[in-house]
Amino acid sequence: MRIKQQLHGLPSYKPGKPMDEVKKELGLERVIKLASNENPYGSSLLAQEAIAQLLNGLAIYPDGYAAILRKKVATHIGVEQNQLIFGNGSDEVIQMLCRALLTKEHNIVTADPTFSQYKLNAIIEGAEVKEVPLKDGVHQLDEMLKVIDEQTKIIWVCNPNNPTGTYVTEKAFLSFLEKVPKHVLVVSDEAYYEYVEAKDYPETVPLLKEYENLVILRTFSKAYGLASLRVGYGVGHPHFIQSLDPVRPPFNNTSLAHVAAAKALDDQDFISNCVQKNAEEKKRLVDFCDKENIPFFPSQTNFLLMDLNKKGNDVFDYFLRKGMIIRSGEALGFPTYIRVTIGTKEENDVFLEVLKAFLEETK
Ligand SMILES: *Cc1c(COP(=O)(O)O)cnc(C)c1O
Repeated sequence: MRIKQQLHGLPSYKPGKPMDEVKKELGLERVIKLASNENPYGSSLLAQEAIAQLLNGLAIYPDGYAAILRKKVATHIGVEQNQLIFGNGSDEVIQMLCRALLTKEHNIVTADPTFSQYKLNAIIEGAEVKEVPLKDGVHQLDEMLKVIDEQTKIIWVCNPNNPTGTYVTEKAFLSFLEKVPKHVLVVSDEAYYEYVEAKDYPETVPLLKEYENLVILRTFSKAYGLASLRVGYGVGHPHFIQSLDPVRPPFNNTSLAHVAAAKALDDQDFISNCVQKNAEEKKRLVDFCDKENIPFFPSQTNFLLMDLNKKGNDVFDYFLRKGMIIRSGEALGFPTYIRVTIGTKEENDVFLEVLKAFLEETK
């Protein structure tokens, strides 16, 4: 069977190594995973209890319109219900946008390095990918504007950016939006929105009133701690969102996901608690890097990209043997870096201990 030309040689997504696999392979009792920016404190108990109550309803298809969750999210972020589209993770919203907008006549503009799914989905649709290098880890919006042409359909702003954790300021984003031609969709991927502390980070939802070519992506996978349930959403102009809907698979979220995400929104205490602990723990890691002269990118997220000046894959192997799964920078466009999720205090104690031993041994 011949698959589409553009799929030839495309790699599969390489997820963080699963914990059970590592335990078995290395015969370890305890494995700590700080590789995929999941919430180390889990998820709201309200969400977990809501799922338990649904267990006798598994035979019934979910509500394809996601009415319960839709209402909650609309109120929570202050938009109309018809401005929302839900995906099986925001990954699926990225896929739907590409499927709806891109053909082989078109192109997208992204930063480089950034989240891998923008490029992958564009390639699958046969579109061209124009990548503009980050500068000091940050999107160069002015340079990105320059490569837009008549065939450009989407320009992606990952804010904060994965894998650097850096952000685009409100001032930069506003001036950018003003200049993007109206035929180009601007996507602001805000997967780490809840973690952002910077005062000059753009609040994008109010901008939807003025810019019909803006779509915002948010997710329940990171701060809300529901990565396994796969819920993310896009927010945009009602007409555009409606026009996307035929691309969405009819039952793309489970009922369990709808109910858990809706309950998780009610528990903002859980979120603020996690966000606060994340900030404290991030500071510990940052202070350590400063003390040891380890370069890193200032992060507005729950992860830190640091330069150990050694091949990322070797550092990954070293940590793995000590029972820690981190992410090598090699596949992320930063060959001598590692990306580590900010864990709990106990997890970071172990991380710092292993890191100290690594620095000592490789001096
Ligand atoms: C994690 C992540 C996503 C995808 O999250 P889902 O689990 O699919 O909702 C999207 N964008 C960025 C930048 C991410 O880091």
